[in-house]
Amino acid sequence: MLVPRPEARHYALRCRACNRVIEDDGFVLGCPSPHEPAFLVADYHNRRFQPDRSSADLFRFHSWLPIGRRMAGVGSGATYRSERLARAAGLDELWIAFNGWWPERGATLATGTFKELEAWTVLARLPQRPAGTLVIASAGNTAAAFARACSLAEVACLIIVPESGLAQVLSPEERAPWVKLVVLDHPADYADAIALAGWLAEVEKYYPEGGVRNVARRAGLGTVLLDALDTMGRLPDYYFQAVGSGAGAIGVFEAAERLVEDGGFGDQLPRLMLSQNHPFTPLYDSWRTGSRVLVRMDAEVARRRAAQILTPVLSNRQPPYAILGGVYDALHTSGGDMLAVDNAAARQARALFEEHEGIDIDPAGAVALASLLQAARDGRIAKGATVLLNVTGGGRERRLREGSLRHARPDVRIARSEIRRSGAVEMVGAL
Ligand SMILES: [Zn+2]
Repeated sequence: MLVPRPEARHYALRCRACNRVIEDDGFVLGCPSPHEPAFLVADYHNRRFQPDRSSADLFRFHSWLPIGRRMAGVGSGATYRSERLARAAGLDELWIAFNGWWPERGATLATGTFKELEAWTVLARLPQRPAGTLVIASAGNTAAAFARACSLAEVACLIIVPESGLAQVLSPEERAPWVKLVVLDHPADYADAIALAGWLAEVEKYYPEGGVRNVARRAGLGTVLLDALDTMGRLPDYYFQAVGSGAGAIGVFEAAERLVEDGGFGDQLPRLMLSQNHPFTPLYDSWRTGSRVLVRMDAEVARRRAAQILTPVLSNRQPPYAILGGVYDALHTSGGDMLAVDNAAARQARALFEEHEGIDIDPAGAVALASLLQAARDGRIAKGATVLLNVTGGGRERRLREGSLRHARPDVRIARSEIRRSGAVEMVGAL
């Protein structure tokens, strides 16, 4: 049978380790050559930053997104300059990338989380009608984003979240019947969700989304910096974000590399100032050792610590730290740093944001702000420096109060004792 060749794409994938160039089929997640773990990155034919002014959503950056098509129903984050919070924090120039629901500011991510940016780009990278079911593991926000995007885009998918993430799975619309939600009962955690998703993806009728290895996921999250640059007219000196896996920060780093290559925005990468919520801090702990080896965290210790933090969505105990092009490289190359803040500091930061900016933010955004306040207090932000704060979610409490978001009901619940490789398909197979 003759299979039509897919339309040529406006980019090629390249391996960070061996520079092998790979034609994208919409699914590939890694380099087939035998070497150390490394990300694939996209090299775009157009090396200039040229947003498409005819569009207002995230696809206006399509020439720098690894996608095969554009889709409808997509929202956007918004970048604006803060006056009151900046003064309260003692900062000369603070810009806020608000990635949630705040239409008065131009932020229209319907589920209230920046993970929508990754969901739409991942779907737009897939071929028109992918055979099989997309499998996604999520700590909570990614599930919310994909549940909505896959419903609207008519892409069959199966989403696995631990119980701790279920409260984040919110949407203004009903979930479509082709989108299934599997919840792993407490004390199963995000790592269990990742494991189950991996086993399912080995089965023919399923294909893996791939998490941080998916080049489209990182590129979608990286549009935060493109949007900021488009508004600010320059690159920030510092970029603050809370991280679980670090996919968003790596995406921003990749976008920054591209902007520096463009040549029109200086040669200075923004320093990545990434934060975690004490006591769940594997990236912070690893960075403190000074090596590119991820510190090991015992599974039971990890579960206990994840239960203590305000931000279960950040509780990834296998983040892509050591991999070529991963968190270590992004921190090292950008002259960045890892910070850690406790629940009390995050709660204070959240209240401060609401008081000065007038809208609720997610706990993860609060962790990022708390780390910024700490860095400012410690005199670590140079006078006159430009700071970009990624508020990775917000406006959700307001939407819940207004009754315009609904909680998701799981299609199936699985007890931790039942999760195993053999029988995994049977467990969800009836869906
Ligand atoms: Zn390679």
